Amino acid sequence: MSSVTATAPADASPADRLEVLFEELAELTGQRNAIDGRIVDIVAEIDHDGLWGNTGARSIRALIAWKTGVTPNNAETLATIAHRRDDFPECTQGLREGRLSLDQVGVIAARAAEGSDAHYAELARSATVTQLRTAIKLEPRPDPDPGPASPPALTRTDRGDHVDYRLRLSPLAAATFDAALQSHHDALITDWKSNHTTAPAEQRPPMPTTLDAFMRLIEDSWDAEATRRPHGQRTTIVVHLDIADRIADLHLGPLLTDAERRYLTCDATAEIWFQRDGRPIGAGRSTRTIGRRLRRALEHRDDCCVVPGCGATRGLHAHHLIHWEHGGPTELDNLVLVCPYHHRAHHTGLITLTGPADHLVVTDSDGRPLHSGTLARPPQNPPPDVPPYPGPTGERADWWWYQPFQPQPPPAPN
Ligand SMILES: [Zn+2]
Ligand SMILES: [Zn+2]
Repeated sequence: MSSVTATAPADASPADRLEVLFEELAELTGQRNAIDGRIVDIVAEIDHDGLWGNTGARSIRALIAWKTGVTPNNAETLATIAHRRDDFPECTQGLREGRLSLDQVGVIAARAAEGSDAHYAELARSATVTQLRTAIKLEPRPDPDPGPASPPALTRTDRGDHVDYRLRLSPLAAATFDAALQSHHDALITDWKSNHTTAPAEQRPPMPTTLDAFMRLIEDSWDAEATRRPHGQRTTIVVHLDIADRIADLHLGPLLTDAERRYLTCDATAEIWFQRDGRPIGAGRSTRTIGRRLRRALEHRDDCCVVPGCGATRGLHAHHLIHWEHGGPTELDNLVLVCPYHHRAHHTGLITLTGPADHLVVTDSDGRPLHSGTLARPPQNPPPDVPPYPGPTGERADWWWYQPFQPQPPPAPN
């Protein structure tokens, strides 16, 4: 391994210069693969032991993207390989030794069947990322069991920290649903394109998902419903707040904990009905309502969720740094924009936001301050000592003769 960069003399032929450059490229790529292999092992350790839980990040993927300064897609690849590291020991070893690239192992870890490690470790020696993708598509997939037809239904299962909804529709209703969802998705994509085409790729927020489209569908119809009502106010959640005891319960719903009550009543998206001794005495919004001008000023100052590493730009809540229950004013200094995930994380104590807004401090659950920016710094150790990466041979693949990986049937019961 040479530590000095070789260059061909300036009068060398293009072919000779290219050969020198390719040699260096092979060496650097081998080292980069080995470094990616080590990063995968670090991610696997963080993920396996649940160490990211108290960093305030919303997922292991978000944590990696934040700390290593890569795109969510690249972070996803690292997390996927880390997650299936034990299913693909040979492939991940190839990465550690610099023989395979992150993207090669990434497509294998993303979709290849269990038990196929040796098959793909061999194939990846010569196959490009695209060829590996094709090979994995050729794996026989088990037919989904149609099962007995069941009637359309919408069911809701409370799982504690989240709620699962299951929607079963007739083909006709499903077509209506799909068309509505598609039109909302298209509208979101159009918005996204007109707002973010000038920004550099790494600063763009993620593309709107189908789930974003679904929430837009819900919110729009709710707005339409709200304008039909006498008070004409946009409502997301109705909270009854008992002034004497500060006990809140959701409209026709369960009693809320202190943390949930503060979360719901923090932003102006909740409509609060004050009550005393169980009787409504008014719907107070005047002190907490964030007017359009204040919201504009907030959006100008906080262009995304203020929690380091987050970058979410959609559906942001205006969080009162000192809760209005405790006399915190609805003013620029006392407000920051946060995404719903981090807003909830603050009110449940996973992270802490401390004002004033222009000297905001965000800490994790152990009180350590969170900083934006990556962990990258100039290297202090020599690069990994691995052989140069030869790269896939790039030969035309002859799929006629290719034998796809065949999953072994489970052993027959005796
Ligand atoms: Zn809040
Ligand atoms: Zn956030």
